[in-house]
Amino acid sequence: MDKLKKYKLKRNLRKTPEPIESKPGNKNIFVVQKHDASNLHYDFRIQIKDVLVSWAVPKGPSMDPSVKRLAIPTEDHPLSYADFEGTIPEGQYGAGTVMVWDIGTFENIKNQSLQDQKENGQIEIKLKGKKLKGNFSLVKFMGKKDFLDQKWLLIKMSDKYVSKKGDILKDKPNSAKSGKSLKKIS
Ligand code: MN
Repeated sequence: MDKLKKYKLKRNLRKTPEPIESKPGNKNIFVVQKHDASNLHYDFRIQIKDVLVSWAVPKGPSMDPSVKRLAIPTEDHPLSYADFEGTIPEGQYGAGTVMVWDIGTFENIKNQSLQDQKENGQIEIKLKGKKLKGNFSLVKFMGKKDFLDQKWLLIKMSDKYVSKKGDILKDKPNSAKSGKSLKKIS
């Protein structure tokens, strides 16, 4: 089965600058894309095998473990999407500006495959981003088998990277790739 079928069906790839090819590497990559669509949100994506498994996080990540952020599953994206920063044209799916807000690699910190963790609704990973660092969990709290019908939470786990002061989204608003603001990208 083509894991990117849903991704391709939603897009006119002749009209959007978004990438199509997936090129598997040997590192687990993650990306958080700030997406100025009809509602500004943060797309949290982690590599599981040869795709980026994705959640839309309306309020974005927090470094405070007492803050639980809603994470809504979205369709798998190609690995090459991690690098995508640009503007999806008006009238296309997800129209608006996309910023690589954070990017890096991650480690699986549980003794279970990422695929199994996803199926069991509890993923624990250590992020090594430019902004997000340390352990995070993704926890399913609603929905059964179909990933796209589920609801999850993104939660910072306790470690030395915890910060209860400030807001990383406001303190570090610009691109981890280009240093640009949303305005400069658009
Ligand atoms: Mn989005």
